[in-house]
Amino acid sequence: MEKLNQLYEGKAKKVFATDDPEVLLVSYKDDATAFNGIKRGTIAGKGAINNRVTNYMMQLLEKEGVPTHFVKELSDRETLVKKVTIVPLEVIIRNISAGSFSKRCGVEEGIVFDEPTIEFSYKNDELGDPLINAYHAVALKLATWDEIETIKTLAFKVNSFMKAFFKKVGVDLVDFKLEFGRLSDGTIVLADEISPDTCRFWDSETHEKLDKDRFRRDLGHVEDAYQEMMKRIFGE
Ligand code: ADP
Ligand code: UDP
Repeated sequence: MEKLNQLYEGKAKKVFATDDPEVLLVSYKDDATAFNGIKRGTIAGKGAINNRVTNYMMQLLEKEGVPTHFVKELSDRETLVKKVTIVPLEVIIRNISAGSFSKRCGVEEGIVFDEPTIEFSYKNDELGDPLINAYHAVALKLATWDEIETIKTLAFKVNSFMKAFFKKVGVDLVDFKLEFGRLSDGTIVLADEISPDTCRFWDSETHEKLDKDRFRRDLGHVEDAYQEMMKRIFGE
């Protein structure tokens, strides 16, 4: 597969065309942003870690019956994925209160929910990814009701699997963001990434944060947290 022109440079990844019109090449950067791009920095080694973690999780999820965009890992930073039309929703699942939920609802972080919650943000940088509900998503024609139902089912399946997976390595999966896309035949698949950039991971014993909150909140030891997640997942 040949790497062709760059189609897009996002905050964390670059996307390239390939000689197969159905396949894209994603290249993970060390760049980090927070608060809709206001805070910027780099996290050394992050790109390679997020690439490996994402690909590993997607391959495990495929085995669980969750269709994903994953095709092939090419190198430490580069991966081939199926080209999709991204559904412009950030799908957020929460098991424990934190972040914008705690702020919006005026509750402390760390409340363990009896059941996971789901919410949608309209993926639109100019608007700052506003929280919307499923009716709004359908009204705006961001997705159909059928697609919303599929996305909900898949997102909760991803949560059940990942919650158990991370528990085994001593990590509580607090919350995370997923993106879904449509293949050319309309099939909904899991796309984008699953990494310490897009999930909150807390050590089960110490509750130490092992994710991008260390960068967002200037907690220090940012690289160490990403490395620690690698160690937990791959034992290295
Ligand atoms: P952002 O656009 O938020 O800055 P990134 O830097 O992660 O994010 O850029 C990657 C872009 O590629 C995102 O807009 C994401 O929605 C998109 N994307 C992820 N997977 C696919 C895919 N399989 N096909 C097409 N686009 C994708
Ligand atoms: N998240 C993300 N990208 C975003 C917004 C959120 O990956 O643009 C992830 C974030 O890492 C966390 C979860 O989604 O794991 C919930 O984030 P929250 O709504 O609490 O927002 P934040 O506190 O990040 O502003």
